[in-house]
Amino acid sequence: MTMPDQATRSAIDYLWMHFTRTSAHTDPGAEVPVIVRGEGPYIWDKDGKRYLDGLSGLFVVQVGHGRVELAEAAAKQASELAYFPVWSHAHPQALALAERLAALTPGDLNRMFFTSSGSEAVESAWKLARQYFKKVGKPGKYKAISRNIAYHGTTMGALSLTAIPPLRQDFEPLVPGAFKAMNTNRYRCHTCAALPACTLDCADDIARVIEYEGPDSVAAVFVEPVQNAGGCIPPPPGYFERLREICDRYDVLLVSDEVICAFGRLGETFACNRFGYLPDIITCAKGLTSGYSPIGAMVASDRLFEAFGTGKDAGMFTHGYTFGGHPVSAAVAMANLDIFDREQLNTHVRSSEGAFRATLERLADLPIVGEIRGAGFFYGIELVKDKATRESFSDEESERLLRRFLSPALFDRGLYCRADDRGDPVIQLAPPLICDQTQFDEIEAVLRSVLTEAWQRL
Ligand code: PLP
Repeated sequence: MTMPDQATRSAIDYLWMHFTRTSAHTDPGAEVPVIVRGEGPYIWDKDGKRYLDGLSGLFVVQVGHGRVELAEAAAKQASELAYFPVWSHAHPQALALAERLAALTPGDLNRMFFTSSGSEAVESAWKLARQYFKKVGKPGKYKAISRNIAYHGTTMGALSLTAIPPLRQDFEPLVPGAFKAMNTNRYRCHTCAALPACTLDCADDIARVIEYEGPDSVAAVFVEPVQNAGGCIPPPPGYFERLREICDRYDVLLVSDEVICAFGRLGETFACNRFGYLPDIITCAKGLTSGYSPIGAMVASDRLFEAFGTGKDAGMFTHGYTFGGHPVSAAVAMANLDIFDREQLNTHVRSSEGAFRATLERLADLPIVGEIRGAGFFYGIELVKDKATRESFSDEESERLLRRFLSPALFDRGLYCRADDRGDPVIQLAPPLICDQTQFDEIEAVLRSVLTEAWQRL
């Protein structure tokens, strides 16, 4: 029997990997992939093997790996002022970043409440919605609606909005007041999958939930521009126009959760611009620094800030985080946005997304490929057992196919991406925004060989 190496021993004995079965640490012969280096769209493991990072780490590394200027921005800021909070004080990097982001958001979304993660941004948004309605004399409005299978984070408020049952069940009771509505998965829509066009019943379902719960009790609706969990589910045409109308009708805040979709993933700095809607709050994180240092933000409209009053009537959003708006992360975010400007990354995504889609669509000839969907550099490939009927896999088949075969096989053949069954079985791709046809072809070639083998094994 071969002895585990030092890295594997540390993983077995000390590391607790997130969202990872403990068997990945403890099974005899378990090997934990250890990534030691990255450059551009590629990463290398401890044995020197190269992989294409088809998921930008975790929808994070927009500008690619190994950007020395981002490391230098972090070092410069850490040596000047490593830490100071944004509690009653400020520091130049938070100020500069707040102003810069305000210029990039649509409408009057001018107020940056910095956090250190996406969950914290979502948590902050729901808390702001609750406190805002108390301030404006509607204290009964506290509930929030999110969409089926959506993922909005793991802190208790954010988890209550997350609509993936296996992620929630062991933590019940959750925060009261979180309700679920339909998502926009047209491929699986009970109302209009068989019709020639979407009827926007999915948007109207949110109105139905508001009516059912009572408009006087609902504070906010949380939606992603393109829903990640379930496999990169885009909105049908007209969806956000209808949703904005519904939120206005019932005086409910529209929260655009752009933790994945912002910062170029869909070819815009803020993804609501891609679909032409104006939310009341945007939540973002991940790509803001391309992951070179952690930060998130809850971006609120002036209207929400102004409800907290002025002068002797001034109130306080009674909420905060020690590391929110960390100076080093804010400095890295500024340098990251400089790269976006200089290299025109949003333009690059918009001009190459057609080629990315077309390359993935070559896979449509495979019997296991049901639907290829997404936008920008954010695509999901839904796998099916029967293309004609859209029949999906049983739990046992999903386990065998996705967990035991697809994920390791894709990685073995040099492609890091995600094979996910939170919803229906999908492969998700979100490569760094610097990728071009060379990487699109690489992705297609690996997927073709692995999916062909998966089908033969079924
Ligand atoms: N919201 C969305 C849409 C996400 O995709 C995620 C994480 O993937 C989160 C919130 C939570 O972000 P974090 O993991 O930084 O807490």
